[in-house]
Amino acid sequence: MLNNVTLQVLLAAILGVVLALALGDSAWLDEPGVVYQAVLLLKSMFLAALRMLIAPLIFFSLIGGICGIGNVIRLRALGGITVIYYLCTTSIAILLGLFVVFFVHPWTQYPPVMEVGELAPGRLLDPNSGPMSGVMGSLASQLLTNPFTALTELNILGIVANAFLIGLAMVLALPQDSPVFTVVNHINLVISRVLGWIIRLLPIGIFAILFDFTIKLSADTGHGQAFLTQLLQFGGVVVLLTLIHGLVVLPGIATLMTGMNPVTLLRKIARPMLVAFSTSSSSATLPVSMRTASEELEVSESVSSFVLPLGATMNMDGTALFEALAAVFLAYLYGIELTNVLIVTIFLMSMVASIGAPGMPSASMAGMQMVLIAVGIPLEAIAILLVIERPLDTIRTAVNVEGDLVGSLVVQSRLR
Ligand code: ASP
Repeated sequence: MLNNVTLQVLLAAILGVVLALALGDSAWLDEPGVVYQAVLLLKSMFLAALRMLIAPLIFFSLIGGICGIGNVIRLRALGGITVIYYLCTTSIAILLGLFVVFFVHPWTQYPPVMEVGELAPGRLLDPNSGPMSGVMGSLASQLLTNPFTALTELNILGIVANAFLIGLAMVLALPQDSPVFTVVNHINLVISRVLGWIIRLLPIGIFAILFDFTIKLSADTGHGQAFLTQLLQFGGVVVLLTLIHGLVVLPGIATLMTGMNPVTLLRKIARPMLVAFSTSSSSATLPVSMRTASEELEVSESVSSFVLPLGATMNMDGTALFEALAAVFLAYLYGIELTNVLIVTIFLMSMVASIGAPGMPSASMAGMQMVLIAVGIPLEAIAILLVIERPLDTIRTAVNVEGDLVGSLVVQSRLR
């Protein structure tokens, strides 16, 4: 039990809220007592530790990921079509989410729960750029920054663009046995070891963040209730849209591309989807998906052995949809005006974060930080998501796996 970080995080979250409700005093907001000051110190130390690692983590893990994908693709003729399919379905998932939240406005009737105050330090985009040319100009100036400036300024778009270009150039210019690939892999090992140490502190960080959050929220009961309603609505919208993507969009694509009846498809892939639902891990579901692809969907092994493992790490429609919705939700919550630039940023970052997330439970929470910083949402908002994230992970993982299986069908049909 003591080694189970998920359980510890849950207990810490409950403890943070309960202690804040029992001991907290809204007067602390004006004159913080010793206890509250200690909690605030813990909170800022934890967030600083997370922030310390974000730039190198994104930079090197993306280079590593792109080299990995690139080296696999250049060996296989089906690489191009697989990646195009994956990118298209992920884009559809994100657009579905953005389209619905912007046209239905589920959260706008409430005032922002928290104030960002001065812009979060990671916010690098000009919030006032309106027309499309301004949007593109602003995005381009963020994307095309030299890698050192991007890293030191925590310019997420710039870091992603540089990592992408460097990774691509490495795949194209270096021989496959180049030691540079090994160096990048080793750097990633070192960074993830340090990240592991910080993750051990997650329960303390979550405790401090939620303690502070509850004190601020309970200073105004109206806001507290609005927040809970908003959080539940957010969960409902995520579930609904993920189901639409999984039950309508993906089966629709399968029917369109391969002629397979949607109900037959869902029946045939029910088993891996259930495994994904119960494990919350695309990677753990991979053996079952491989079997279903060959036995139920009659996909040849040469296709499934390439498309499914690649999909388990890079194709996550449910995750991308969740990250985009979460970014919009938190932006409303913190009263951040979503300009065109920020909407395009959410689209791009959700895409990159979903590609980068490994197929493990709650894996998308790491990439979520990158989306938050790029939009200017305070990093501590991650604690709000962690409260509701576990149950949502089940459905989004099932849809992630479904996307891979439909991908194997589509790629197979294109090769005929
Ligand atoms: N649990 C997801 C998966 O394995 C990743 C995530 O969204 O956290 O596909």
